[in-house]
Amino acid sequence: MKHVSIFGATGSVGLSTLDLVRRDPEAYGVVALTANSDVDSLAALARETGAQVAVIGQDRLYGALKAALAGSGIEAAAGEDALVEAAARGADWTMASIVGCAGLKPTMAALKAGGTVALANKESLVSAGGLMMDAARQSGATLLPVDSEHNAIFQCLAGSSLDDVARIILTASGGPFRTKSRVEMAAMTPAQAVAHPNWSMGAKISVDSATMMNKGLELIEAAYLFPVGLDRIEILVHPQSVIHSMVEYRDRSTLAQLGSPDMRIPIAHALAWPQRIATPCQPLDLARIGRLDFEAPDMERFPALRLARAAAGEGGATPAILNAANEVAVAAFLDGRIGFLDIAMIVEDVLQRYGAPRPGTIDDVLAADAEARAQAGQVMERLTA
Ligand code: NAD
Ligand code: MG
Repeated sequence: MKHVSIFGATGSVGLSTLDLVRRDPEAYGVVALTANSDVDSLAALARETGAQVAVIGQDRLYGALKAALAGSGIEAAAGEDALVEAAARGADWTMASIVGCAGLKPTMAALKAGGTVALANKESLVSAGGLMMDAARQSGATLLPVDSEHNAIFQCLAGSSLDDVARIILTASGGPFRTKSRVEMAAMTPAQAVAHPNWSMGAKISVDSATMMNKGLELIEAAYLFPVGLDRIEILVHPQSVIHSMVEYRDRSTLAQLGSPDMRIPIAHALAWPQRIATPCQPLDLARIGRLDFEAPDMERFPALRLARAAAGEGGATPAILNAANEVAVAAFLDGRIGFLDIAMIVEDVLQRYGAPRPGTIDDVLAADAEARAQAGQVMERLTA
Protein backbone atom coordinates (compact mmCIF):
# COMPACT_ATOMS: atom_id res chain seq x y z
CA MET A 1 0.00 0.00 0.00
CA LYS A 2 1.19 3.50 -0.88
CA HIS A 3 0.65 6.09 1.87
CA VAL A 4 -0.38 9.38 0.30
CA SER A 5 -0.92 12.94 1.54
CA ILE A 6 -2.73 15.63 -0.43
CA PHE A 7 -2.03 19.29 0.28
CA GLY A 8 -4.81 21.42 -1.14
CA ALA A 9 -7.18 18.44 -1.18
CA THR A 10 -10.31 20.55 -1.76
CA GLY A 11 -8.97 22.25 -4.88
CA SER A 12 -9.19 21.31 -8.53
CA VAL A 13 -5.95 19.26 -8.57
CA GLY A 14 -6.55 17.89 -5.06
CA LEU A 15 -10.02 16.58 -5.98
CA SER A 16 -8.71 15.07 -9.22
CA THR A 17 -6.03 13.28 -7.17
CA LEU A 18 -8.64 11.99 -4.72
CA ASP A 19 -10.75 10.80 -7.63
CA LEU A 20 -7.89 8.47 -8.62
CA VAL A 21 -6.97 7.47 -5.07
CA ARG A 22 -10.52 6.46 -4.13
CA ARG A 23 -10.78 4.15 -7.15
CA ASP A 24 -8.25 1.77 -5.60
CA PRO A 25 -8.61 1.63 -1.80
CA GLU A 26 -6.35 -1.44 -1.65
CA ALA A 27 -3.49 0.45 -3.28
CA TYR A 28 -3.63 3.78 -1.42
CA GLY A 29 -3.94 4.77 2.23
CA VAL A 30 -4.40 8.44 3.12
CA VAL A 31 -2.11 10.06 5.69
CA ALA A 32 -2.92 13.79 5.55
CA LEU A 33 -5.48 15.93 3.75
CA THR A 34 -5.37 19.73 3.93
CA ALA A 35 -7.43 22.75 2.90
CA ASN A 36 -7.31 26.48 3.55
CA SER A 37 -10.78 27.29 4.90
CA ASP A 38 -13.41 24.84 3.65
CA VAL A 39 -13.89 22.86 6.88
CA ASP A 40 -16.95 20.91 5.75
CA SER A 41 -15.41 19.63 2.51
CA LEU A 42 -12.14 18.78 4.25
CA ALA A 43 -13.87 16.86 7.03
CA ALA A 44 -16.07 14.98 4.56
CA LEU A 45 -13.06 13.98 2.43
CA ALA A 46 -11.06 12.94 5.50
CA ARG A 47 -13.93 10.77 6.78
CA GLU A 48 -14.52 9.22 3.39
CA THR A 49 -10.86 8.29 2.86
CA GLY A 50 -10.09 7.40 6.49
CA ALA A 51 -7.26 9.92 6.63
CA GLN A 52 -5.00 9.93 9.69
CA VAL A 53 -4.98 13.72 9.98
CA ALA A 54 -6.85 16.67 8.48
CA VAL A 55 -5.26 20.11 8.56
CA ILE A 56 -7.05 23.40 7.96
CA GLY A 57 -4.78 26.31 7.02
CA GLN A 58 -6.61 28.99 9.02
CA ASP A 59 -5.84 28.78 12.77
CA ARG A 60 -9.22 30.19 13.75
CA LEU A 61 -11.01 27.19 12.18
CA TYR A 62 -9.45 24.60 14.49
CA GLY A 63 -12.57 24.31 16.67
CA ALA A 64 -14.85 23.94 13.68
CA LEU A 65 -12.67 21.21 12.16
CA LYS A 66 -12.40 19.37 15.46
CA ALA A 67 -16.19 19.43 15.79
CA ALA A 68 -16.68 18.26 12.20
CA LEU A 69 -14.38 15.29 12.82
CA ALA A 70 -15.82 14.35 16.23
CA GLY A 71 -16.10 10.60 16.73
CA SER A 72 -14.14 9.77 13.57
CA GLY A 73 -10.78 9.11 15.24
CA ILE A 74 -9.20 11.48 12.68
CA GLU A 75 -6.75 13.96 14.14
CA ALA A 76 -7.60 17.64 13.55
CA ALA A 77 -4.94 20.34 13.24
CA ALA A 78 -4.82 23.96 12.08
CA GLY A 79 -2.41 26.63 10.99
CA GLU A 80 0.75 27.00 8.95
CA ASP A 81 2.94 25.06 11.37
CA ALA A 82 0.49 22.18 11.38
CA LEU A 83 0.65 22.06 7.56
CA VAL A 84 4.44 21.80 7.76
CA GLU A 85 4.24 19.18 10.50
CA ALA A 86 1.81 17.10 8.42
CA ALA A 87 4.13 17.32 5.41
CA ALA A 88 7.06 16.17 7.54
CA ARG A 89 5.22 12.97 8.51
CA GLY A 90 6.82 11.37 5.52
CA ALA A 91 4.05 9.90 3.41
CA ASP A 92 5.37 7.74 0.57
CA TRP A 93 3.78 10.13 -1.90
CA THR A 94 2.71 13.74 -1.39
CA MET A 95 0.61 15.81 -3.77
CA ALA A 96 1.67 19.46 -3.46
CA SER A 97 -1.45 21.19 -4.80
CA ILE A 98 -1.86 24.24 -2.59
CA VAL A 99 -2.15 27.31 -4.81
CA GLY A 100 0.45 30.05 -4.52
CA CYS A 101 3.57 30.66 -2.48
CA ALA A 102 1.48 29.57 0.55
CA GLY A 103 2.46 26.05 -0.48
CA LEU A 104 6.18 26.66 -0.20
CA LYS A 105 6.82 25.64 3.42
CA PRO A 106 4.78 22.42 3.35
CA THR A 107 6.26 21.47 -0.03
CA MET A 108 9.77 22.03 1.32
CA ALA A 109 8.95 19.94 4.39
CA ALA A 110 7.73 17.09 2.17
CA LEU A 111 10.91 17.30 0.08
CA LYS A 112 13.08 17.24 3.20
CA ALA A 113 11.18 14.17 4.44
CA GLY A 114 12.55 12.37 1.39
CA GLY A 115 9.52 10.63 -0.15
CA THR A 116 8.03 11.27 -3.57
CA VAL A 117 6.61 14.74 -4.09
CA ALA A 118 4.17 15.24 -6.97
CA LEU A 119 4.39 18.95 -7.70
CA ALA A 120 1.41 20.91 -9.00
CA ASN A 121 2.16 23.99 -6.88
CA LYS A 122 4.31 25.76 -9.48
CA GLU A 123 4.46 29.04 -7.52
CA SER A 124 6.63 27.39 -4.84
CA LEU A 125 9.14 26.21 -7.44
CA VAL A 126 9.11 29.57 -9.21
CA SER A 127 9.84 31.34 -5.92
CA ALA A 128 12.39 28.96 -4.45
CA GLY A 129 13.41 26.59 -7.24
CA GLY A 130 17.09 26.45 -6.39
CA LEU A 131 16.45 25.72 -2.71
CA MET A 132 13.79 23.13 -3.50
CA MET A 133 15.98 21.26 -5.99
CA ASP A 134 18.83 21.30 -3.43
CA ALA A 135 16.52 19.96 -0.71
CA ALA A 136 15.39 17.10 -2.97
CA ARG A 137 19.00 16.21 -3.82
CA GLN A 138 20.02 16.25 -0.17
CA SER A 139 17.15 14.11 1.13
CA GLY A 140 16.92 11.84 -1.90
CA ALA A 141 13.30 12.87 -2.47
CA THR A 142 11.82 12.22 -5.91
CA LEU A 143 10.22 15.31 -7.42
CA LEU A 144 7.66 14.43 -10.09
CA PRO A 145 6.10 17.22 -12.16
CA VAL A 146 2.30 17.23 -12.32
CA ASP A 147 1.83 20.41 -14.34
CA SER A 148 0.69 18.85 -17.62
CA GLU A 149 3.48 20.44 -19.68
CA HIS A 150 6.25 19.43 -17.29
CA ASN A 151 4.81 15.99 -16.86
CA ALA A 152 4.82 15.72 -20.67
CA ILE A 153 8.45 16.86 -20.85
CA PHE A 154 9.38 14.37 -18.12
CA GLN A 155 7.73 11.60 -20.13
CA CYS A 156 9.41 12.70 -23.39
CA LEU A 157 12.80 12.77 -21.65
CA ALA A 158 12.30 9.18 -20.48
CA GLY A 159 15.58 9.22 -18.62
CA SER A 160 17.64 10.69 -21.49
CA SER A 161 20.59 12.93 -20.74
CA LEU A 162 19.77 16.65 -20.80
CA ASP A 163 23.01 17.02 -22.79
CA ASP A 164 21.22 15.43 -25.74
CA VAL A 165 18.33 17.89 -25.63
CA ALA A 166 18.34 20.57 -28.33
CA ARG A 167 15.07 22.25 -27.29
CA ILE A 168 12.19 21.91 -24.92
CA ILE A 169 8.98 23.12 -26.54
CA LEU A 170 6.48 24.20 -23.93
CA THR A 171 3.02 24.28 -25.48
CA ALA A 172 0.41 26.85 -24.43
CA SER A 173 -3.30 26.91 -25.21
CA GLY A 174 -3.12 30.71 -25.45
CA GLY A 175 -5.97 30.94 -22.92
CA PRO A 176 -9.42 32.44 -23.38
CA PHE A 177 -8.07 35.73 -24.82
CA ARG A 178 -5.75 34.19 -27.41
CA THR A 179 -7.33 36.09 -30.27
CA LYS A 180 -8.36 39.24 -28.37
CA SER A 181 -6.82 42.65 -28.98
CA ARG A 182 -5.39 44.71 -26.10
CA VAL A 183 -8.43 47.00 -26.36
CA GLU A 184 -10.78 44.04 -26.02
CA MET A 185 -8.71 42.59 -23.16
CA ALA A 186 -8.98 45.83 -21.21
CA ALA A 187 -12.72 45.26 -20.80
CA MET A 188 -12.58 41.57 -19.85
CA THR A 189 -14.25 40.54 -16.59
CA PRO A 190 -13.12 37.91 -14.06
CA ALA A 191 -15.90 35.59 -15.29
CA GLN A 192 -14.58 35.86 -18.87
CA ALA A 193 -11.00 35.33 -17.73
CA VAL A 194 -11.70 32.15 -15.78
CA ALA A 195 -13.64 30.54 -18.64
CA HIS A 196 -10.77 28.51 -20.06
CA PRO A 197 -11.48 26.93 -23.46
CA ASN A 198 -9.89 23.51 -22.67
CA TRP A 199 -9.18 23.03 -18.97
CA SER A 200 -11.30 23.33 -15.83
CA MET A 201 -9.04 24.72 -13.09
CA GLY A 202 -8.91 26.89 -9.97
CA ALA A 203 -9.58 30.63 -10.35
CA LYS A 204 -5.99 31.84 -9.90
CA ILE A 205 -4.40 29.59 -12.54
CA SER A 206 -7.29 30.33 -14.90
CA VAL A 207 -6.55 34.06 -14.74
CA ASP A 208 -2.84 33.23 -15.18
CA SER A 209 -3.78 31.36 -18.35
CA ALA A 210 -5.67 34.39 -19.63
CA THR A 211 -2.68 36.74 -19.07
CA MET A 212 -0.33 33.92 -20.14
CA MET A 213 1.57 34.50 -16.89
CA ASN A 214 0.85 30.81 -16.37
CA LYS A 215 3.14 30.00 -19.28
CA GLY A 216 5.71 32.44 -17.92
CA LEU A 217 5.63 30.70 -14.53
CA GLU A 218 5.89 27.38 -16.36
CA LEU A 219 8.96 28.59 -18.24
CA ILE A 220 10.65 29.28 -14.90
CA GLU A 221 9.37 25.96 -13.54
CA ALA A 222 10.84 24.13 -16.56
CA ALA A 223 14.18 25.92 -16.18
CA TYR A 224 14.52 24.52 -12.64
CA LEU A 225 13.21 21.03 -13.38
CA PHE A 226 15.05 20.56 -16.67
CA PRO A 227 18.15 22.79 -16.62
CA VAL A 228 19.00 22.81 -20.33
CA GLY A 229 19.51 26.61 -20.43
CA LEU A 230 16.76 29.17 -20.77
CA ASP A 231 17.46 29.80 -24.46
CA ARG A 232 16.62 26.16 -25.15
CA ILE A 233 13.12 26.42 -23.72
CA GLU A 234 10.61 27.78 -26.22
CA ILE A 235 6.92 28.53 -25.95
CA LEU A 236 4.58 27.44 -28.73
CA VAL A 237 0.88 28.28 -28.81
CA HIS A 238 -1.23 25.22 -29.58
CA PRO A 239 -4.92 26.05 -29.06
CA GLN A 240 -6.26 22.47 -28.89
CA SER A 241 -4.16 21.47 -25.82
CA VAL A 242 -3.65 17.97 -27.22
CA ILE A 243 0.15 18.03 -27.32
CA HIS A 244 1.16 18.85 -23.76
CA SER A 245 4.79 19.64 -24.66
CA MET A 246 7.69 18.31 -26.71
CA VAL A 247 11.39 17.56 -26.46
CA GLU A 248 13.65 17.92 -29.49
CA TYR A 249 16.92 16.00 -29.30
CA ARG A 250 20.18 16.97 -30.95
CA ASP A 251 19.65 14.42 -33.72
CA ARG A 252 16.47 16.51 -34.51
CA SER A 253 14.14 13.77 -33.40
CA THR A 254 11.20 15.35 -31.56
CA LEU A 255 9.07 13.53 -29.00
CA ALA A 256 5.63 14.80 -27.96
CA GLN A 257 3.23 13.65 -25.27
CA LEU A 258 -0.46 13.79 -26.20
CA GLY A 259 -3.66 13.29 -24.26
CA SER A 260 -7.10 14.66 -23.49
CA PRO A 261 -6.95 17.86 -21.44
CA ASP A 262 -7.70 16.11 -18.13
CA MET A 263 -5.36 16.65 -15.18
CA ARG A 264 -6.06 13.12 -13.96
CA ILE A 265 -3.72 11.87 -16.73
CA PRO A 266 -0.54 13.60 -15.48
CA ILE A 267 -1.64 13.04 -11.86
CA ALA A 268 -2.04 9.30 -12.55
CA HIS A 269 1.39 9.25 -14.16
CA ALA A 270 2.94 10.76 -11.04
CA LEU A 271 0.84 8.59 -8.71
CA ALA A 272 1.86 5.30 -10.31
CA TRP A 273 5.36 6.19 -11.53
CA PRO A 274 7.37 4.27 -12.61
CA GLN A 275 4.37 2.06 -13.28
CA ARG A 276 1.12 3.00 -15.07
CA ILE A 277 -2.46 2.77 -13.87
CA ALA A 278 -5.78 2.89 -15.72
CA THR A 279 -7.72 6.17 -15.56
CA PRO A 280 -11.36 7.00 -16.38
CA CYS A 281 -10.14 9.71 -18.78
CA GLN A 282 -11.34 10.05 -22.36
CA PRO A 283 -9.09 8.37 -24.91
CA LEU A 284 -7.70 10.76 -27.48
CA ASP A 285 -9.89 10.83 -30.60
CA LEU A 286 -7.61 12.44 -33.18
CA ALA A 287 -10.00 11.76 -36.07
CA ARG A 288 -12.65 13.81 -34.28
CA ILE A 289 -10.18 16.56 -33.33
CA GLY A 290 -9.13 16.59 -36.99
CA ARG A 291 -6.29 19.09 -36.86
CA LEU A 292 -3.66 20.49 -34.56
CA ASP A 293 -2.74 24.16 -34.89
CA PHE A 294 0.37 26.02 -33.80
CA GLU A 295 1.37 29.66 -33.67
CA ALA A 296 4.14 31.77 -32.15
CA PRO A 297 3.28 33.48 -28.86
CA ASP A 298 2.54 37.22 -29.09
CA MET A 299 4.80 39.02 -26.62
CA GLU A 300 3.14 42.38 -27.32
CA ARG A 301 -0.37 41.34 -26.37
CA PHE A 302 0.89 39.13 -23.54
CA PRO A 303 3.63 41.11 -21.73
CA ALA A 304 3.64 38.55 -18.87
CA LEU A 305 5.65 36.26 -21.16
CA ARG A 306 8.36 38.89 -21.56
CA LEU A 307 8.40 39.68 -17.82
CA ALA A 308 8.69 36.03 -16.83
CA ARG A 309 11.47 35.27 -19.29
CA ALA A 310 13.43 38.30 -18.05
CA ALA A 311 12.87 37.22 -14.41
CA ALA A 312 14.03 33.69 -15.23
CA GLY A 313 17.18 35.13 -16.82
CA GLU A 314 17.86 37.31 -13.80
CA GLY A 315 17.28 34.50 -11.33
CA GLY A 316 17.92 35.06 -7.63
CA ALA A 317 14.87 36.50 -5.90
CA THR A 318 13.42 38.01 -9.09
CA PRO A 319 11.09 35.08 -9.93
CA ALA A 320 9.77 35.18 -6.34
CA ILE A 321 9.06 38.91 -6.71
CA LEU A 322 7.36 38.35 -10.08
CA ASN A 323 5.23 35.60 -8.56
CA ALA A 324 4.24 37.52 -5.43
CA ALA A 325 3.27 40.66 -7.36
CA ASN A 326 1.26 38.49 -9.73
CA GLU A 327 -0.56 36.72 -6.88
CA VAL A 328 -1.59 40.07 -5.39
CA ALA A 329 -2.66 41.48 -8.76
CA VAL A 330 -4.65 38.38 -9.74
CA ALA A 331 -6.48 38.41 -6.38
CA ALA A 332 -7.31 42.10 -6.90
CA PHE A 333 -8.57 41.42 -10.43
CA LEU A 334 -10.75 38.53 -9.21
CA ASP A 335 -12.09 40.93 -6.56
CA GLY A 336 -13.04 43.47 -9.20
CA ARG A 337 -10.57 46.05 -7.87
CA ILE A 338 -8.38 46.35 -10.99
CA GLY A 339 -8.72 45.72 -14.71
CA PHE A 340 -7.32 42.77 -16.62
CA LEU A 341 -4.45 44.67 -18.24
CA ASP A 342 -3.43 46.11 -14.86
CA ILE A 343 -2.20 42.67 -13.76
CA ALA A 344 0.96 42.57 -15.89
CA MET A 345 1.43 46.31 -15.43
CA ILE A 346 1.53 45.94 -11.65
CA VAL A 347 3.97 43.03 -11.92
CA GLU A 348 6.24 45.07 -14.17
CA ASP A 349 6.05 48.07 -11.86
CA VAL A 350 6.98 46.00 -8.79
CA LEU A 351 9.87 44.36 -10.67
CA GLN A 352 11.21 47.80 -11.54
CA ARG A 353 10.89 49.16 -7.99
CA TYR A 354 12.12 46.26 -5.96
CA GLY A 355 15.04 43.84 -6.11
CA ALA A 356 16.31 41.51 -3.40
CA PRO A 357 19.62 39.67 -3.05
CA ARG A 358 19.84 36.01 -4.02
CA PRO A 359 17.95 34.07 -1.34
CA GLY A 360 20.03 31.65 0.72
CA THR A 361 17.13 30.29 2.76
CA ILE A 362 13.37 29.85 2.55
CA ASP A 363 13.02 32.74 5.00
CA ASP A 364 14.89 34.97 2.50
CA VAL A 365 12.43 33.90 -0.20
CA LEU A 366 9.46 34.59 2.05
CA ALA A 367 10.88 38.02 2.98
CA ALA A 368 11.22 38.93 -0.73
CA ASP A 369 7.70 37.57 -1.30
CA ALA A 370 6.29 39.70 1.55
CA GLU A 371 8.05 42.87 0.39
CA ALA A 372 6.89 42.34 -3.20
CA ARG A 373 3.31 41.93 -1.94
CA ALA A 374 3.61 45.20 0.01
CA GLN A 375 5.00 46.96 -3.06
CA ALA A 376 2.22 45.58 -5.23
CA GLY A 377 -0.28 46.91 -2.70
CA GLN A 378 1.24 50.40 -3.01
CA VAL A 379 1.22 50.28 -6.80
CA MET A 380 -2.45 49.31 -6.67
CA GLU A 381 -3.32 52.11 -4.24
CA ARG A 382 -1.87 54.62 -6.70
CA LEU A 383 -3.72 52.98 -9.56
CA THR A 384 -7.14 52.93 -7.91
CA ALA A 385 -6.80 56.29 -6.06
P1 NAD B 1 -7.60 25.59 -6.37
O1 NAD B 1 -7.80 27.01 -6.06
O2 NAD B 1 -8.69 24.83 -7.03
O3 NAD B 1 -7.20 24.80 -5.03
C1 NAD B 1 -6.22 25.29 -4.16
C2 NAD B 1 -6.11 24.43 -2.90
O4 NAD B 1 -5.16 25.05 -2.03
C3 NAD B 1 -7.42 24.33 -2.10
O5 NAD B 1 -7.50 23.07 -1.49
C4 NAD B 1 -7.26 25.43 -1.04
O6 NAD B 1 -7.98 25.15 0.14
C5 NAD B 1 -5.76 25.35 -0.78
N1 NAD B 1 -5.21 26.65 -0.33
C6 NAD B 1 -5.38 27.86 -0.92
N2 NAD B 1 -4.73 28.82 -0.25
C7 NAD B 1 -4.14 28.21 0.81
C8 NAD B 1 -3.36 28.69 1.90
N3 NAD B 1 -3.06 29.99 2.05
N4 NAD B 1 -2.91 27.78 2.81
C9 NAD B 1 -3.24 26.48 2.69
N5 NAD B 1 -3.97 25.98 1.67
C10 NAD B 1 -4.43 26.83 0.75
O7 NAD B 1 -6.26 25.50 -7.25
P2 NAD B 1 -5.86 24.42 -8.35
O8 NAD B 1 -6.37 24.84 -9.66
O9 NAD B 1 -6.15 23.04 -7.85
O10 NAD B 1 -4.29 24.64 -8.40
C11 NAD B 1 -3.43 24.18 -7.39
C12 NAD B 1 -1.99 24.33 -7.85
O11 NAD B 1 -1.78 23.45 -8.95
C13 NAD B 1 -1.64 25.73 -8.35
O12 NAD B 1 -0.31 26.01 -8.01
C14 NAD B 1 -1.78 25.61 -9.85
O13 NAD B 1 -0.94 26.51 -10.54
C15 NAD B 1 -1.34 24.18 -10.09
N6 NAD B 1 -1.89 23.58 -11.29
C16 NAD B 1 -3.23 23.43 -11.41
C17 NAD B 1 -3.76 22.85 -12.57
C18 NAD B 1 -5.26 22.66 -12.73
O14 NAD B 1 -5.69 22.06 -13.69
N7 NAD B 1 -6.09 23.12 -11.81
C19 NAD B 1 -2.92 22.44 -13.59
C20 NAD B 1 -1.54 22.60 -13.42
C21 NAD B 1 -1.04 23.16 -12.27
MG1 MG C 1 0.32 23.71 -17.07
